[in-house]
Amino acid sequence: MKLLLVEDERRMAEAVAEVLRQENYDVDVCYDGESGLDAILSGIYDAVILDVMLPKLDGFSVIRQVRRENVRTPVLMLTAKSELADKVSGLDAGADDYLTKPFMVEELLARVRALCRRNAPAADGRLRAGDLTLDSSTAILSCTLTGQEIRLGEKELHLMEYLIAKQGTIVSREKLALKVWGYESSAEYNNVEVYISFTRKKLAFIGSKMEIKAVRGLGYELRGA
Ligand code: CA
Repeated sequence: MKLLLVEDERRMAEAVAEVLRQENYDVDVCYDGESGLDAILSGIYDAVILDVMLPKLDGFSVIRQVRRENVRTPVLMLTAKSELADKVSGLDAGADDYLTKPFMVEELLARVRALCRRNAPAADGRLRAGDLTLDSSTAILSCTLTGQEIRLGEKELHLMEYLIAKQGTIVSREKLALKVWGYESSAEYNNVEVYISFTRKKLAFIGSKMEIKAVRGLGYELRGA
């Protein structure tokens, strides 16, 4: 699961990001509202944690613009206790949930899990495409046809999560690179090919009939062979 944290207090942001990474979330951080808005609009995040008081653009303005652009990514807003009236404003503006600062880490994790479930296609949190089942929490990719399974590496997991979410459509290399390497990273697009190749070998190993098809000049598509 790929999360975006938008929080200008750096020490707070780093602490929260660290806690989330320990829970195996892939976390990017933005430190102001403008860059946060751009990152959310990229559409690559599974959920967003958004502070209200931010430089350049406040959290309410960010969420309003996100919803105006029809981006449905679940958003958890963080507000200070003194801003309790903000709860209503935040939910009105299109946030899915809110949490008042200071909060307990366990509370934050519970809210984030709930947010990610909103986005998950199946009740058991597993992603499916054809004969493939992917359990994001264990990174185990299995084939229902052969009963074989294999564990994916971190990059392969993010890559497969995205291809499964977008199954039946062509995903550009740029979007895949963003999804797997992050918004700020300038990962070589060649890396995408390398990890596609690793993942194809794993699909073959478990005997899946699904394939990652390269569509010349456009990108990749996960589909039945
Ligand atoms: Ca703040």
